Amino acid sequence: MKDYYRRIREVPILQVAEALGIAVRKDKKALCPFHGDKDPSLAFKGNRFHCFGCMEKGSPIDLVMKIKDLGLEEASEWIGSRFRIFPPDKGSPARSRSRKTPASPLPEKKIALPGAITAASPPGKEVLPAYFDVYEKTIALLPSSGAIAYLEGRGIPRDTAAGYMIRIVEDPGKVLAGLLERFSLELLLSSGVVRKKKDGSPTLQWGEGWIIFPFIGRDGLEAGQIVFLQGRNPLPDGIPKYMELAGGFPRPLYWTAKGMGAPEDGELYLCEGIIDALSAEEMGSPAVAVLGTSALSDTIIRTLLPYRLKILADKDPAGGKFAKEASGRIKEMGGWASVVHLPDGVKDGNEFLLQKIDRKGGRK
Ligand SMILES: [Zn+2]
Repeated sequence: MKDYYRRIREVPILQVAEALGIAVRKDKKALCPFHGDKDPSLAFKGNRFHCFGCMEKGSPIDLVMKIKDLGLEEASEWIGSRFRIFPPDKGSPARSRSRKTPASPLPEKKIALPGAITAASPPGKEVLPAYFDVYEKTIALLPSSGAIAYLEGRGIPRDTAAGYMIRIVEDPGKVLAGLLERFSLELLLSSGVVRKKKDGSPTLQWGEGWIIFPFIGRDGLEAGQIVFLQGRNPLPDGIPKYMELAGGFPRPLYWTAKGMGAPEDGELYLCEGIIDALSAEEMGSPAVAVLGTSALSDTIIRTLLPYRLKILADKDPAGGKFAKEASGRIKEMGGWASVVHLPDGVKDGNEFLLQKIDRKGGRK
């Protein structure tokens, strides 16, 4: 654990500052976010920050803790998830094969479009930057252990699940109370994390037991921010199977770390769901998930055009339809797409991973 915090503290502070949205000048100075700064007095040196105006100072972790109002663990996780550093495996069976992930930052692929939040925002309810803090705090208020166990059951190792900040709702009322301490009800409602019940009282969008997946943005103002949340019903036949933010936001792409790092004109697996994308990544393939054909807007296709797309769809009628429609539209727009044919008896990407683990004699 000591080693984990050391590695987090060693992430270049200028990159952490940038991920926090601090504009650092060439002389490594910036306007201090902690006091009304007009002449840049925040300096970076020796991987620490120091303000000559208000005397705030500290490590990259301190910077995140102060700006995002997070605890040590949450702030470390905030950095870790963006720079692919995961906490050590605490005695899980997967320990022997837990990977040493290099502390390489996510690639910069910032496309600033004037007047637009991102290159990948299809029309629909607009995601405002003010919501990013709400999503982040929501994730910070949710426990992870139950979600990690759920994903381990699907062959996704503990460190991957932790790195993607996947959570479970255990006490919706407590989360709502925690959010209300920090944000106005109006903001919570418009962000889609909270909705109104029939009697008009506010409630968290997801009930007890739901697994929550945060989506990390890649481009423009969204880069490195949590831009969307999807809940998954933990019951195998639970209805609905998925529940997203309330209010009908457009569904963004779910980028895996390898997917974000995939070179343009490189291979990218286009999956039908998050767990399939995480499974593909676990098998070594860069992947991205699109949440259904309806989410595959022209804007999203344009984001994907630079890649050689391999469509990994479920082997059922709906999956077949998705693969056909997606590859058709991608090719129509001048892109490259092929459909992955899963072996007989394998119904989706996650099952493929599970069978692979089985063949290796299991992970445990
Ligand atoms: Zn200051």
